Amino acid sequence: MAKIYLDWASTSPPLFSMQKELQQSAHLFGNPSSIHTYGSEAEKALSDARRLIGECTDASPEEVIFTSGATEANNMIAFSFLKKHLFSPAREERPQIIISGIEHASLWEPAETLSKTGFDVFVAAADSSGIIQPKAVISLCTPRTVAVFCMLVNNETGAIQPVKEIVSAVKQWAAQHSTTIHVHTDAVQAFGKLWFSFRDLGADSAALSAHKTGGPKGVGALLLKKKTAIDFLYCGGGQENKRRPGTENLNAICFFARTAKKRITNLEDNLRKARSMMDMVITQLSRIDEVVLVPASRKPSLQSLYSPYILSLAIVPVPSEVIVRSLDEHGIAVSAGSACNLKSRKKQRRVLLAMNIDSTTAESAIRISIGPETTVQELHSFTSTLQKIVPLHLHLAKRIRQPGKKSSSIRSK
Ligand code: PMP
Repeated sequence: MAKIYLDWASTSPPLFSMQKELQQSAHLFGNPSSIHTYGSEAEKALSDARRLIGECTDASPEEVIFTSGATEANNMIAFSFLKKHLFSPAREERPQIIISGIEHASLWEPAETLSKTGFDVFVAAADSSGIIQPKAVISLCTPRTVAVFCMLVNNETGAIQPVKEIVSAVKQWAAQHSTTIHVHTDAVQAFGKLWFSFRDLGADSAALSAHKTGGPKGVGALLLKKKTAIDFLYCGGGQENKRRPGTENLNAICFFARTAKKRITNLEDNLRKARSMMDMVITQLSRIDEVVLVPASRKPSLQSLYSPYILSLAIVPVPSEVIVRSLDEHGIAVSAGSACNLKSRKKQRRVLLAMNIDSTTAESAIRISIGPETTVQELHSFTSTLQKIVPLHLHLAKRIRQPGKKSSSIRSK
């Protein structure tokens, strides 16, 4: 049975076509901080990678801080405010953070921790299309607001967030109130897929991950605007211009930079192909009566509102895990939500519930996510397999839900 991978938003297959290029840096084992030849060769490779990531995001190389991934980059920003607060002479003033209700766990959970350690954390709600409107953020700003966290593309629905407009509105609000507000964006699901310029976006910082775009796991970057006054929690090494201590994961960083460059070079072609394939999937799914898209407003024509690499759908009331497992038995890998939340059902549904999606639909939502190497044939197989398995699972789910039926005992086990 041919295997079909439709879970690119959780991780992507490494770009094996780049193995040859990778070997160019495989021999570099020196510590980039050492001053001998091994070290200076490693340092040169590191600066080349930094320049490439800068080119891929329209950031200057000094704005690129290599990390172990986006989780670390998001945590670094969130907890830098904790450090500042702990050492602030005016500690009785509770600082305030605004976070969008649809953030990934790697920002959401640090924000929960901040709320238990002296911060007021306010949640900006998404509208029913899964989009955070700038006014939803501005309505929460107060003179105590120190930071706003809003992602660029949601990892469950693909909804593209108006981050540039949010930054501009927040900065204008801050200027009018003689204060400064740091705006951070998690750009993981946009990077290498939808072009964004860090400069134009205006955000103070952005998180990137390598493994969503064919790069290795365990590496990513934090983009931090030049001259941003921020003090990170970790210390103990002068690496990354004293902003992220610890010896850099050089070979992974070189692979990250080269795969990112390749994705950016082909970004427009890949995007065109993804758009046409996702439109095809949406049209095919619209012919299966039992399938609802999540959010229901998602249509092929809404190209500027959603990333064509991510789509959520539900077969109500069939639990998402049932469909994920059934598709897996047919060789098709999809997801029941963000991979980082799969161990907790409640956490898994947080983002969809925050968009006012009803809980039964949220419980049934599955996500497909595609990449540049996904083919039309694979997507045809997905829609036709789904069409085949839906009636059986719907029948079973309805029987299980009916009280008094024998099979209802399954639920109480
Ligand atoms: N943010 C988003 C939106 C993500 O999808 C992910 C990956 N699931 C992360 C952050 C975490 O990235 P990493 O695996 O590099 O830590």
